[in-house]
Amino acid sequence: MTLLPLSDYLGDSAALCDAVVRLRGSALVAELGRIASAVMASPHGLFLPAASAAAATSAAPPAPFPRDTPALLQEISFDGHCFGHYSVAGRPVYNDADRRHLASLASLTAGVLQVHSLAQRSTHAYAQVEALLAQQTQILDQLHESVLTMDLTGYITSWNKGAERLFGYTSVEAVGRNILFLYDDEDTGFHDAFLEQGGRLMEVRRRKKSGEIFWASLSLSPLQDLDGKPIGLIAYLTDITERKLAEERLHHLAYYDPLTSLPNRTLLAKLVDQALSVAQRSKMLGCVLFIDLNRFKLINDTLGRRIGDELLRQVSLRFRQALRDQDLVARLGGDEFAVGLFDIGQHFEASMVSQKLLASLVEPFLIEGHDLRVGASIGISVYPQDGQDAETLLRLADIAMYRAKQDSGGEAESVAFYSQDMNLGMQARMRLETGLRQALSEQQLLLHYQPKYALGSGRIIGAEALVRWHHPQHGMIPPAEFIPLAESTGLVVQVGEWVLEAACAQAQAWKQAGLPPIRLAVNVSAREFTAALPARVAATLARYGLEAAWLELEITESTLMHNIERVIGIMDRITALGVALSLDDFGTGYSSLSYLKRFPIDTLKIDRSFTTGIPTDASDCAIASTIISIAQQLHHKVIAEGVETAEQLAFLKSSGCDEVQGYLFSRPLPAVEFEKALRQNWGL
Ligand code: C2E
Ligand code: MG
Ligand code: MG
Repeated sequence: MTLLPLSDYLGDSAALCDAVVRLRGSALVAELGRIASAVMASPHGLFLPAASAAAATSAAPPAPFPRDTPALLQEISFDGHCFGHYSVAGRPVYNDADRRHLASLASLTAGVLQVHSLAQRSTHAYAQVEALLAQQTQILDQLHESVLTMDLTGYITSWNKGAERLFGYTSVEAVGRNILFLYDDEDTGFHDAFLEQGGRLMEVRRRKKSGEIFWASLSLSPLQDLDGKPIGLIAYLTDITERKLAEERLHHLAYYDPLTSLPNRTLLAKLVDQALSVAQRSKMLGCVLFIDLNRFKLINDTLGRRIGDELLRQVSLRFRQALRDQDLVARLGGDEFAVGLFDIGQHFEASMVSQKLLASLVEPFLIEGHDLRVGASIGISVYPQDGQDAETLLRLADIAMYRAKQDSGGEAESVAFYSQDMNLGMQARMRLETGLRQALSEQQLLLHYQPKYALGSGRIIGAEALVRWHHPQHGMIPPAEFIPLAESTGLVVQVGEWVLEAACAQAQAWKQAGLPPIRLAVNVSAREFTAALPARVAATLARYGLEAAWLELEITESTLMHNIERVIGIMDRITALGVALSLDDFGTGYSSLSYLKRFPIDTLKIDRSFTTGIPTDASDCAIASTIISIAQQLHHKVIAEGVETAEQLAFLKSSGCDEVQGYLFSRPLPAVEFEKALRQNWGL
């Protein structure tokens, strides 16, 4: 076999590749024929493309070779695909080596044709896809809407020109970032919104590159791959800010009073009805206050509408400031306002709010050099007692307001409930409250002292100071009748200040009279138990030159229930002064035993309700003796209050109680009598 030099092979292949890449149709056919003739050193060489090759195989050798000339025919195929045939002729003989030589050329040609056709096909397909994509992008970009796509986790995958125009970000800036960067801060996350809204159309707030927030209508539809598997979302957004603003303006016109910007009657009714359904679920009361200004008409008529309007604006501001954020205030028209109160537990709180509103009007209004004074009449209706819906409640509050105005002759500030019962209750409370303020300023309060005895020695070791109100008409009023009211109005703080002062003054008098040092216990209510208390106690002791050992504070278990850490801090500062603390009414609250050991207290005071049951009620006995043993474990002293019988005393003694206080020994006594009892007890 004759082998061609390598350079010839390379030359042939190069010529072949060059032909296949460069030429098409008959030019390619002719060139391949020429290459075959050259490679085979034959006068004739043909390339017969596949269609005519089929005929050639059955009727070899093909024209135009002379019939008698020997010729070679070789199929050109790759992987079963036939591209055609080579045919050479013109030499006198062709041997086996020539046959193999032509076969190699055919195989090389088949390979090159195959690669070329594959490359051509994919280039074509690619160009088609490119063209399609370019077309679609063009369509998307032509749309005025902004269209963007994102993957399932919210990362932006495409961004059209509309989106560029709307948001101000180019697609280079936006693609690859998470969609959340376009959200207004108030918006909830991407998933929440989509999960809630699904593919529906929704209105959302978005942020532009400039920082501007705008309203957009957003429609989301799922983006799927060829198998229908979800791979993301397509979002279409249109700016609807204009429409939204128009809607808001309309809404404002429909629901707000243009003069004061307060809700109008329509909105009030809506909001009240909503709030009532919440109040119903939480078993709370709701109150509607109908407020009518007094003397407004006169001002408006004499000074003119401009001043009248300004006055209404300022009144609305004062009302808003006097109320808590969750309270509703509306202007019904003219000089009429309404207030809705919801999370309240007892109806009398509404009368306290009414007083606050009236108080907010006391300061005169200074408008254009005029010093203007207006008052108001307020009517209150209560849900659910008086009515179940906003309209009814407003109507009844209006009626109550008229009654209030009539009762006061239309001039004075007045408040009335629609319900007569509530009215009577309110009037009684108001009388009591004014009375108590008067009692404080006119020295109608006084202290009685109930001795406390040490069980071991039988000695009086102290006294509890108990406040009384000597009313000029009603005589002696016990604290149970005015302390709870004073607590709800906050007046208890002033009462408490007075009591501490009076008890220290009394202690100083007894100290100077040479009486033995005893502990005077003062009751402190939860409202007084603030961070300011320790300093006040220290200052009062100092003013009277009293040692701290003269003073003890009784606090109730309920004081301890809120904000334990804060309470412990205050207690620590009180005991650091040397003032003792005792826990009053012990057993009636729910002190946790684990906290109990952290409280810096000296004495546990067994509540009278348990003492009463001794010795007949087994559970009272058990509770009393348990309290005594808890006190012993925690190294506290223990005192029983309300001891009225010898049996009770005997039980307490045998259980290990340290001290007692009760009618069996003494009732609370006026100071002079207590002093006598003390001297007698100490044999002075
Ligand atoms: P408390 O601190 O538990 O006072 C004990 C109450 O039980 C006193 O009633 C006292 O008179 C009464 N008492 C004592 N021994 C007996 C007895 O053997 N039998 C009966 N039936 N009662 C007895 P009072 O003086 O009416 O005080 C009632 C509550 O008023 C006090 O309960 C205390 O919580 C409050 N309180 C009294 N004075 C003040 C005060 O100055 N400030 C504050 N914040 N609260 C006070
Ligand atoms: Mg007490
Ligand atoms: Mg008590």
